[in-house]
Amino acid sequence: MSRTYNFSAGPAMLPEAVLKQAQEEMINWHGSNMSIMEMSHRGKEFVSVAEAAEADLRSVMAIPDNYKVLFLQGGASSQFAMIPLNLMAKTGKADYLNTGMWSKKAIAEAKRYGDVNIVATSETDKFTTIPAFDSWNLSDDAAYVHYTPNETIGGVEFHWTPETGDVPLIADMSSTILSRPIDVSKYGMIYAGAQKNIGPAGLTVAIIRDDLIGQAGSSVPAMMNFETHAKNESMYNTPPTYGWYLAGLVFAWIKEQGGLAAMGEINKRKADKLYAAIDGSDFYANPVEKQSRSWMNVPFTLANSDLDGDFLAGAKDVNLVTLKGHRSVGGMRASIYNAMPEAGVEALVSYMAEFERTKG
Ligand SMILES: *Cc1c(COP(=O)(O)O)cnc(C)c1O
Repeated sequence: MSRTYNFSAGPAMLPEAVLKQAQEEMINWHGSNMSIMEMSHRGKEFVSVAEAAEADLRSVMAIPDNYKVLFLQGGASSQFAMIPLNLMAKTGKADYLNTGMWSKKAIAEAKRYGDVNIVATSETDKFTTIPAFDSWNLSDDAAYVHYTPNETIGGVEFHWTPETGDVPLIADMSSTILSRPIDVSKYGMIYAGAQKNIGPAGLTVAIIRDDLIGQAGSSVPAMMNFETHAKNESMYNTPPTYGWYLAGLVFAWIKEQGGLAAMGEINKRKADKLYAAIDGSDFYANPVEKQSRSWMNVPFTLANSDLDGDFLAGAKDVNLVTLKGHRSVGGMRASIYNAMPEAGVEALVSYMAEFERTKG
């Protein structure tokens, strides 16, 4: 029986091979007669798992040596606060780009800690565009520039990296990390909740350049201080061990697929197929400007929204689930992260054609 194609924005699908390996190792990890989740995070077994996961992530993303990789909890949403708490005091000011709902949440949190300058916003375009870089109003005294390379809800994605010179660029990559090769050295910090493209919910990965660690003031709680986690190899307190282990399996799986170059090719092909189906029909529409369309989250509407319920029910009958769009956008949204097989996208495309033929 084939697995359900789950188009959820997160928690999202995991590679079947990873789930099977986790299943095989569940009761008896590597001959220990214990599950990895029952083991001390400080024991040599788990430490070996943790180190291998970090090494594989470093090799897959080509992370330079002057960056720390942290395995944290609290989701990307905690980073919305940790970033200003750790980095804003330097000048009391930070630059934020506003391209959608996740940008807005990051901005709202940063405003608690200092001056937030909105360098540009696409809100008047209902977040269907990315403001051209030459229109950005960057400050000369910002402690950092924050942006959201892929807006999970709007389906808007940067296919370029902003150049912010000496001002550290910070990216919320929750829904696009590992989807293609990137140049980590262009960023001061990259962070992502795991549940979209890394592993299960409960783990947050942060990749931080060394010079941005150790800048927090003394009033910043230990658990919110990057330095605490960096100094303790993400084991200041009990880390989310099972999530870390599963993330390690996913990183190894990506290596087996041919790394991020291969993932990027597959992801582009999947996205191209789905957008071609949408653009090739008068019945389906995607509102995002073509050059900023996401490879990961593809919102689309039906010409007649009264048919939304039928569309979703029929999709479920053929094993295609969680296609309902976010309430702020309406219609449908297909999230097609790394673990969504190309066959899943093809099944969706054929279902869309069939639905249009019979009901459209
Ligand atoms: C899902 C998501 C978040 C929130 O992540 P949590 O781990 O639930 O806090 C933040 N930013 C983006 C871009 C997301 O897609």
